[in-house]
Amino acid sequence: MSAIAENIAGIRRRILAAGGSGDVLVVAAAKMNGAQSVRRAIEAGIDAVGENRVQEMLEKNERHAYDGAPLHFIGRLQKNKVNKVVGLCDLIQSVDSPELLRLIDARAKALSVTQEVLLEVNIANEASKSGVEPESLDRLIESAAGYGNIRVMGLMAIPPAQGSADEMKGYFSSMYKLFVDIGAKKYDNVNMRFLSMGMSGDFEQAVSEGANVVRIGSAIFGAREY
Ligand SMILES: *Cc1c(COP(=O)(O)O)cnc(C)c1O
Repeated sequence: MSAIAENIAGIRRRILAAGGSGDVLVVAAAKMNGAQSVRRAIEAGIDAVGENRVQEMLEKNERHAYDGAPLHFIGRLQKNKVNKVVGLCDLIQSVDSPELLRLIDARAKALSVTQEVLLEVNIANEASKSGVEPESLDRLIESAAGYGNIRVMGLMAIPPAQGSADEMKGYFSSMYKLFVDIGAKKYDNVNMRFLSMGMSGDFEQAVSEGANVVRIGSAIFGAREY
């Protein structure tokens, strides 16, 4: 068994021990790890691979790093990179503005595909962070509901890494509440299936508060390769 495979098996055990079901999706956050490591994670049965940078993703894609697993975009998406991501990624986790929705829909329409997305929420209202403010989420969902080539599949958040355990619990449980409340509203083109939160340092807590997607980098790959 490769070290990467052992790490993934350990993460799955810890998810179960934290009260998560076997259905929690483990996304390997692969930034700054090479194609070979990504392939190891896929061989070990990772549920999806997440990338942050479009250029790095295109380079690994050229090397067929993602064959055999869904590909997610999890980083900050610049408007001028939308056309490279739509259609290539199975899920764009980090959509946070009406303008991005409009560009994604236009590109998806041109490719005759439906692009699945998550809406990223800035749950701690941090000035420096991407994500829509919780107060503006309803408006963003309403705008998404009007696009025929986008399907909103849930929510994503990156809470502040330096929060105390109690603060993190508060952020995760606030996200879960938004997820449930929006799911109850039954918008068109919105299927609240995924709640993506939790990384190497806090995924057990995220899962125990209701996350069903975790994005894990260093606990899978160890120190970054570049
Ligand atoms: C890097 C990254 C992760 C994983 O971070 P680790 O702490 O290494 O597990 C998760 N989500 C996003 C958006 C990231 O950029």
